[in-house]
Amino acid sequence: METIFKTVYQYNKVPIPAADMERLQEIARDCREVRNYVYGRYGGIRSLPKIYPGYTVQNEMTKSGLRERLGLPSVYFYLAIFDALGDIKSQWARTKSLVEKNIRDHPNMTPEEKHYLRFVMKQGQCFEAVLAGEKPVLPENWKERYTAVCEKVDTHRLNQYLRRQVRRHLRVPHTDVADGFTVSPKGYRYADHGIYISMKESRKRLFILLTDNNRYTRQVYVSLHPEKGKVTIHIPVEVKQKHPAGYGGEVGLALGLRCMFVTDHGNAYGENYIEYQSALTDYVRKRLPRHRKNRKNNPGTKKYSAQKSRLEKAMHTYVNAEINRMLETEKPGVLYIPKLPATPKAGVNKRMNATVSMWQRGFVRSRLTQKCRERSVEVVEVFGKGISAECSCCGAGGRKDGGIFSCETCGLRMPERQNAAVNALKRGQALREEKREPFNKEKSSL
Ligand SMILES: [Zn+2]
Repeated sequence: METIFKTVYQYNKVPIPAADMERLQEIARDCREVRNYVYGRYGGIRSLPKIYPGYTVQNEMTKSGLRERLGLPSVYFYLAIFDALGDIKSQWARTKSLVEKNIRDHPNMTPEEKHYLRFVMKQGQCFEAVLAGEKPVLPENWKERYTAVCEKVDTHRLNQYLRRQVRRHLRVPHTDVADGFTVSPKGYRYADHGIYISMKESRKRLFILLTDNNRYTRQVYVSLHPEKGKVTIHIPVEVKQKHPAGYGGEVGLALGLRCMFVTDHGNAYGENYIEYQSALTDYVRKRLPRHRKNRKNNPGTKKYSAQKSRLEKAMHTYVNAEINRMLETEKPGVLYIPKLPATPKAGVNKRMNATVSMWQRGFVRSRLTQKCRERSVEVVEVFGKGISAECSCCGAGGRKDGGIFSCETCGLRMPERQNAAVNALKRGQALREEKREPFNKEKSSL
């Protein structure tokens, strides 16, 4: 069963006295200083080897003397470090996805060159070495593949390209705001219809009367609103998503005009969709011009509308039934679907496409979203560009011929819709991994 996080809030019942607010703000300012220190020292390219898994940073920060200089309790100090590390990691994830996109879209690179760069970016030690301008030292099981991808490419030139790209996109985070701080359960205690929070003065705790009597055991974020004398406590709460029995797991989908859905396992649903769609499109196309000419007092109008609505109804029934069949067969917990492109491809009949096809595609999507909501199936839209042109096995560009996708780089051959669905799954999982990051850091022990 999929666990999601939801934030719940707690509020102070009576205004916080200015002096107490000042003590809270001082903690927020110190935490900001710790974060900016971590950003400055570990946010750059050279520190990449230190930030995974982060023990080095923690040890070095302990030795830095910053905590003693600020007089900040360790519950705040180490959480601020982990918050900052989380930001740095997201910054790296963002940078990598931008660079990967540039490589994918590069007009003058050969498939071998793209393949080499993708390899380097995937293999952590290799990536670090290239960024540091050193020769990669790889574990035994990677050596052969590395030698293979190096063939036929100018690694020196490509490494330079990669370093330039990373330098261009990597931003060292910095923050000017000090409107709150993170506290672990060690730093607070619920009692007396409120919460006691650790202060900088040793053994002193500040009491805040709360509007509710709920108690939590998680790491919380205290946000400060000094001008209003208010604090808000943010608590991430784990919520088990309720699916009907047996629902779970992740499914990638390719949505099409010919066939409604193809899954990453190659299962197809709505294969007759094109027939319903053509029947409607043909009818509208044949009748519309005549119908428009004499719109006033036209006895055909009624007949036209009736027939059109019959065809629409038949299509809707079919779409609904096929979505149900897909959900009941696949029983997904999460569905990954490509985003709708911003500009629809112009078809044979542009006007018809604009009016009928686009509307229908919107209909399939909105029905899918609605039915997923009813079953608590999460729908995640993924970046759709190039999703059907990219090899779902190795990421290289491939060829589509007769409905079959084939990749010359790794030899994959697969129905093209299925290949797109596997890519949807992969992109979706990568996206979730990135989003999950802030919660992971909480779990890594201090
Ligand atoms: Zn491939």
